[in-house]
Amino acid sequence: MEVKLCSITGFCSGVRAALDLTADMLKQHGPPVFILHELVHNESVVNDLLARGARIVDDPEGLPPGATLIFSAHGVSEAVEARARALPLNIVDATCPLVRKVQERGAELSDAGHVVLLFGKAGHREVEGILGRIHGEKHLLTNPEDARDFKPVSGHSYACISQTTMNSDVIAEMAAILREKIPGLADFASVCYATRKRQDAVRELATVCDLVLVAGSAHSSNTSRLCEIVKSQGARAELVSGPEAVTPDLLRGAKCVGVTSGASAPDTLVRGIFDAVKRIAENEK
Ligand code: SF4
Repeated sequence: MEVKLCSITGFCSGVRAALDLTADMLKQHGPPVFILHELVHNESVVNDLLARGARIVDDPEGLPPGATLIFSAHGVSEAVEARARALPLNIVDATCPLVRKVQERGAELSDAGHVVLLFGKAGHREVEGILGRIHGEKHLLTNPEDARDFKPVSGHSYACISQTTMNSDVIAEMAAILREKIPGLADFASVCYATRKRQDAVRELATVCDLVLVAGSAHSSNTSRLCEIVKSQGARAELVSGPEAVTPDLLRGAKCVGVTSGASAPDTLVRGIFDAVKRIAENEK
């Protein structure tokens, strides 16, 4: 059995910056430091933050005066931000600059008179944050079926943007479907460069592997997209949370196993999974 490590793994720049900022706050203010929702969608990272004195909250109301509250890398809506800033808290914003760019673009397009079509996952924190920055008419389209079902109103002007971690192939398909019924659709689909590069690297890995292990959590949007991309290349994708999930049964039948990770999985986790596959491969010799 051959084992290959993807050329891009581990934290993206936005996740790394949010974690560094949180570590700084813990150092400066001491525990507890409060985070509004999960800082990133990865169980091992969240558990590590909790062990270091971070606390995850769903509502800033009731936090002690002067407490430090961090907005996660996914960003928040205008209403959530205003509500938190009205409280006597030390607000620290860890929104990824690339997410912020999409929030700003959505708001600008709306203010310029466009109906904004956002491609993204319903209920995802980043999507909620972007929608909550757009003042005018907006619609969330989650997949090509939604794009097919969408009925534009004549005389309206439309522009599309996307969640930063969408599958770039799916976005291209959705935009093409919409362009057929909305001539002149302004297309600002906004998958971030880190996601795009990682998706390209996984696509390439999946062409030479028959099984790709994707390190990450099931509720991480970018991780799920990587699994979709592996499958679209005809390979098997398995989401693994850690080295303990790597068993001979999981690898059975695979001749070439690839290992990759979502943007919120630490390199130590990826390395542990890679080594676990290697050990099984060695035992098979
Ligand atoms: S995936 Fe992209 S947008 Fe999201 S946190 Fe990472 S760099 Fe930022």
